[in-house]
Amino acid sequence: MSLKYCQGTECHMHKTKDRIKGTQGNKTYQTRRRSSFYYGNGNFCSLWCQNDWFNKYGDLAINHFGRTTVAKHLTEQNAWYKDYDWSVDDRQSRYIYRNGITKEQRPLTKEQFDDNTYTLNTGE
Ligand SMILES: [Zn+2]
Repeated sequence: MSLKYCQGTECHMHKTKDRIKGTQGNKTYQTRRRSSFYYGNGNFCSLWCQNDWFNKYGDLAINHFGRTTVAKHLTEQNAWYKDYDWSVDDRQSRYIYRNGITKEQRPLTKEQFDDNTYTLNTGE
C-alpha cells in the first residue's frame, strides 16, 4: 500500500493533532499522508485543502486548459449520457445510452459502460 501526500498548498498550515509528526522535541505540523483521499479526484485530504489549491492555482489551470469565453449549448450531438436500468433482469441489457434531447435510447455493453472514453457525443 503506497502512501501519497495531500496536494493542498497549505495542508501543513492547518493545525490539527493528526498533522503533528516527528521525533520527540522535533515535532512539526506536516502535510497529511494517506493511501487515499476523498476530495479532488483523490488528491486532497479535505475540501479546505482543495480550496487552498484552487485559490492558488485555479486561474492558472483554467487559463492553461482553456477558459470558457462563450456559452456552451446542449444539443442532440452532445446530449448522450450513460444510464443503468436497475429494473431489468440479467438476460436483458441493463446498460443504456440515452439522449437528453431526442430521448433516443441505445443499448450499451458493460465494457462500453465502464469505458470512460467511450461516447456517442460528437461535440462539446
Ligand atoms: Zn491536506
